Amino acid sequence: ALRREDKKVVAVVGAGLVGALNACFFAKRGFEVEVFETREDIRKAKVVKGRSINLALSHRGRTALKHVGMEDKIVSKGIPMNARMIHSLSGKQSPIPYGKKGQYILSVDRANLNKELLTAAETYPNTKLNFDHKLQDWSAETGLMTFARPHGSKTQTQADLIVGCDGAFSAVRKQFLRRSRFNYSQTYIPHGYMELTMRPRNGEFAMKPNYLHIWPRNTFMMIALPNLDKTFTCTLFMPFEEFEKISTGDEVIEFFQKYFPDAIPLIGAATLRRDYFRLPAQAMVSVKCSPYHIGDKCVLMGDAAHAVVPFYGQGMNAGFEDCIVFDEIMNQFNEDFSAVLPEYSRVRVPDDHAIADLAMYNYVEVIQFLLHMLHMFFSNANI
Ligand code: FAD
Repeated sequence: ALRREDKKVVAVVGAGLVGALNACFFAKRGFEVEVFETREDIRKAKVVKGRSINLALSHRGRTALKHVGMEDKIVSKGIPMNARMIHSLSGKQSPIPYGKKGQYILSVDRANLNKELLTAAETYPNTKLNFDHKLQDWSAETGLMTFARPHGSKTQTQADLIVGCDGAFSAVRKQFLRRSRFNYSQTYIPHGYMELTMRPRNGEFAMKPNYLHIWPRNTFMMIALPNLDKTFTCTLFMPFEEFEKISTGDEVIEFFQKYFPDAIPLIGAATLRRDYFRLPAQAMVSVKCSPYHIGDKCVLMGDAAHAVVPFYGQGMNAGFEDCIVFDEIMNQFNEDFSAVLPEYSRVRVPDDHAIADLAMYNYVEVIQFLLHMLHMFFSNANI
């Protein structure tokens, strides 16, 4: 019923969190939506490779989900985190609330969120999901895109609007880099991250579940977010050179004894010894660029436009907000891409750059701040 013959074709490149949500936004407007994703359908995949197992969904992100009727579905599978729980070196724990009483953020499963959004996009008859399509090249003049398919074949297809939601290493963005007056910067921070699982104890969460647990330790930091299966996903952030100093199981335990002693029994010494070496530490990149559009043909959203370091927990949330902002501008300018795209860049670039800066600032400051709070907490019981 939604399909209208006069509607333009919108190609969403990348079916990650932002691409899948965006497909819903465009489908709701009745566009002919074609989504192209390099990976196979994660709803059918045995192992879902991702960037983090769970993430913090905040108010910004929830508002965007609400616009496409997905808020309740996602929130019902999220775990509220009412405060941060700071772990001192001695193992003492002290909560620091997020804001006013009753405010919280949610720990959500990344893979489930992505799957639910794909299924939601697919319920629109005017949306088609194309997996195993890796964008290789596209033309800003014609909107013609070339995709690599498995087994070496290629396909081409044309769209009126190309929406680049293909993440921090965006192939869509490559075209932008070839153009004059496009600003671009990319910075890798010296830290890497590694995820470790804390299993349930006697069938229950090993720590209090309704908190984002944080172990601030000068240049290191570990955080843990709860999952529905009563595990916690712990993420250890530290400089790559520190990760590289640890090469044996004994060294892992020594390191944890020195910095995160209370986590050893919680994660389990044997698990730690093994899991630390399962995957190498992952890099984190901050990408800033402007503008976010080319003519009336292409626009970047999500990490493709602004990858941020995760210390502010706002990467996905900011990407979700991109979708709402674009949607509002579409209303304002009657879906006229030649007016909507420049306005989107004008409005969105400063806000996204501010989020990237805050995240980078947080990376430096958050640990100092939390250590300070910890110090205050234990020297002043009233805080
Ligand atoms: P992605 O999730 O990267 O998705 C891009 C998609 O495009 C992928 O599916 C990819 O396969 C596809 N693709 C790539 N290239 C092509 C191509 N050439 N052709 C077709 N498809 C392609 N954010 C939060 O808001 N809260 C958090 O708590 C949080 N925690 C984080 C923790 C860590 C450790 C990290 C690394 C990030 C965290 N983030 C968090 C940030 C969040 O993960 C990203 O902002 C979010 O994933 C961006 O979504 P996206 O859809 O723009 O990009």
